[in-house]
Amino acid sequence: MLQVHSVETFGTHEGPGIRLVIFTQGCYFRCLYCHNPDTQALSGGTDMSVSEIVTLAEKQKAYFGKDGGVTVSGGEPTIHAKELIELFRALHEKDIHTALDTNGALLNDDTKALYEETDLVLLDTKQINEAKHQTLTGMSNENTLALAAYRESTGKAMWLRYVLVPGYSDDEADLIALGEYFKDYRHIERIEILPYHTLGAYKYEKLGRKNPLEGVAMPSKETIAKAVSIFERYFKKVAVR
Ligand code: SF4
Repeated sequence: MLQVHSVETFGTHEGPGIRLVIFTQGCYFRCLYCHNPDTQALSGGTDMSVSEIVTLAEKQKAYFGKDGGVTVSGGEPTIHAKELIELFRALHEKDIHTALDTNGALLNDDTKALYEETDLVLLDTKQINEAKHQTLTGMSNENTLALAAYRESTGKAMWLRYVLVPGYSDDEADLIALGEYFKDYRHIERIEILPYHTLGAYKYEKLGRKNPLEGVAMPSKETIAKAVSIFERYFKKVAVR
């Protein structure tokens, strides 16, 4: 059984094409900008079986077109690696594309087997600067970078995702350092900039928690344009979501 927080049936933001998006429960990171803080707790969610999810995907397969498929996001989906290996194998038997949106923090035999079954990894690279990454997420970026190197070594597709937060991840020097770090990677097909927004702020209130980024504004058009122009020096494709 997979611990599922929620399901989005026609997602267009988590990978290519139209997708069924499964958000799993549980995450070890504590990102200050987390838009889904209710997914962080390791307990909770609703149990869904692999066959239930495959049935749901099959019903929507006609809408996936040539690019779409199923994305598992979170929370942090790799916490559920064993169940997801089974799910992705079953989806591949039905010829359905699989994507995994991950913070990359877990690299072990189970997650390696899962990455083998994953057509596209959406890797959330939150900060290249280790100290700032710690501030932003409560964790080191060491494992995320190790996962990127591992994925590159397997020759399989990966997109990077980068949440642009004023004062936390928009420093020009950090954006350049990230580009320099990944510039020789051959299997990063694109980088997506996700401008920080405040739409999830009400969820903190609902949980009785203080929004850690209260008072932080969304990045300006100029800040986003600057990030795009820096990343364009290093990556084949830059998109803003
Ligand atoms: S990794 Fe994702 S789910 Fe986990 S705290 Fe960060 S933004 Fe939230």
